Amino acid sequence: MQQTSGMKKKKIKCPLCSVKFIPRFFHREKLKFEVNAPVHIINKFKLKFSNGGFQPPNIVSRSWVTICPECNYIIKFAAEMGKKEFLDHNSKSILHLREFKEDGKRYEYKFYNLEKPYKEAHYYNTDLIKALKQRMLKALDDLDLSKWGFLYKMWKTDSQIDSFKFLIRFLAYIEKYIASLKIKIDPDTIIAKIGALYVPYELKENIISLIRIREKTIGQYYDLIKKDEALLQNTYIELTMELIFQEMVSLHLNKASIKEDPRALDKEFYYLELKELLQNYLKNTLYISEDTSLFVITMLNRLKITLG
Ligand SMILES: [Zn+2]
Repeated sequence: MQQTSGMKKKKIKCPLCSVKFIPRFFHREKLKFEVNAPVHIINKFKLKFSNGGFQPPNIVSRSWVTICPECNYIIKFAAEMGKKEFLDHNSKSILHLREFKEDGKRYEYKFYNLEKPYKEAHYYNTDLIKALKQRMLKALDDLDLSKWGFLYKMWKTDSQIDSFKFLIRFLAYIEKYIASLKIKIDPDTIIAKIGALYVPYELKENIISLIRIREKTIGQYYDLIKKDEALLQNTYIELTMELIFQEMVSLHLNKASIKEDPRALDKEFYYLELKELLQNYLKNTLYISEDTSLFVITMLNRLKITLG
C-alpha cells in the first residue's frame, strides 16, 4: 500500500550540526539489521517456542536515506514498515510466510510502503523553473516576434517571398519596432533612430546597410546578390537574438534562487531547462533552422547563467 499524504514541504534539521536543509534526494535503502521479518518457514520453530515479546510491534525494513549537505551526516526515515497484526482466523494449516505465533495467537507482519517524508530539491527546482518559464514566455510574447519569424520562414520556404520582399517587410518591422520605443531623436530620421538603438555597433551598421540596399533596389533597379542575402539572414538572427537578450536581462534570470535553501538550486537542471525553452523559441517561433544551441549558449553566457 502506498501512502499518498504526509510528504512535507519543509526543511530537515540535521541532528548533528543543526543546519536546516532541503534534502537533495532520498534513496531507498534496505536495512542490514532486519529482525526476523518476514518470518520464513525455516525459523518457524524458533518462533513457536519463544515466549512472547520476541517480535517487536513494528519493523522498519527499508529506509529513505539522505545526507546533510553541511556535515554529510546520514539521516534515515522509514520507507517500508512491517506492522505486527493479529489474525483472527486461527486455521490449523501451517504458518504462511510472514505469519508467526505468539502466546498461541496467530500474527502476521503486513508491510506498508511509506512515501518520502520530505519533498526533495527537485520539487523546489521544478516549481522555480515553472514560474520562471512563465515569466520568460510572457516576456517573449510581449516582444511579439512571431510575425518576424513567420516572414523569415516564408522567405526560406516559399518562393512567393523573395529576398526583395523579405528585405522590405523586415525593415518595415524594424521601423515599427523602433517607433514602439518612442525614441526622441533629432534629426527625426530612421538612420538616426537606428543609431540610438541599444544594440551592438556592428548590428546598427548592418541594419543601415540594409536600408541602403533597399534604396538601391527601389531607386536604381538593383537586384540583391548572395552577399546581401547573407547580410539579411545574419541581421535577422543577430537582431532577434539581441532583442530576446534584452528581454531576458530584465528578468534577472541569473539571480533566481530557492528561497528556502539557496544551496538546493540545481544549476544544471536550471541551465538545461532555460536552454531548451530558448532553443524551442528560436526553432518554432523564429524558424531559425541553423544549429540554435550555439546562439543560446552564447546568450546564456551573456546572461551569466552557467552550468556550475
Ligand atoms: Zn549536518
